Amino acid sequence: MPECIFCEIAQKRAQADIVYEDDDCVAFRDINPQAPTHVLVVPKRHIESLSTLTAEDKELAGSLMLAAAKVAEQLGIVQPGYRVVINTNPAAGQTVFHIHLHVLGGRTFGWPPG
Ligand code: AMP
Repeated sequence: MPECIFCEIAQKRAQADIVYEDDDCVAFRDINPQAPTHVLVVPKRHIESLSTLTAEDKELAGSLMLAAAKVAEQLGIVQPGYRVVINTNPAAGQTVFHIHLHVLGGRTFGWPPG
């Protein structure tokens, strides 16, 4: 089975522009940015998607949210605003099956999303 690219990045076996790291998570710049700032926050432990999180992952889920907020603060996108997205399964646009929070900022975002 091919290795998961986000596990490889989290284990520093694949290159990425890492902007934040703590015991639970790593955050790195998206290779195909959709906004001037576009960072992915991923857990170090492999979890496929939001829909496979369990009650045992409650603390980790909190760490991911806090990491996203810290990244936004660190990269200066809190004002005028930023967006956090978790695409879940193919119809929503998930292409990498290791849960990740997109943290997007530096431009205005439309609503509803496409
Ligand atoms: P999603 O489509 O929601 O699953 O998001 C996956 C994201 O991962 C996309 O925005 C890709 O551009 C990004 N991506 C894929 N491979 C890499 C990589 N090696 N380094 C950084 N970002 C990546």
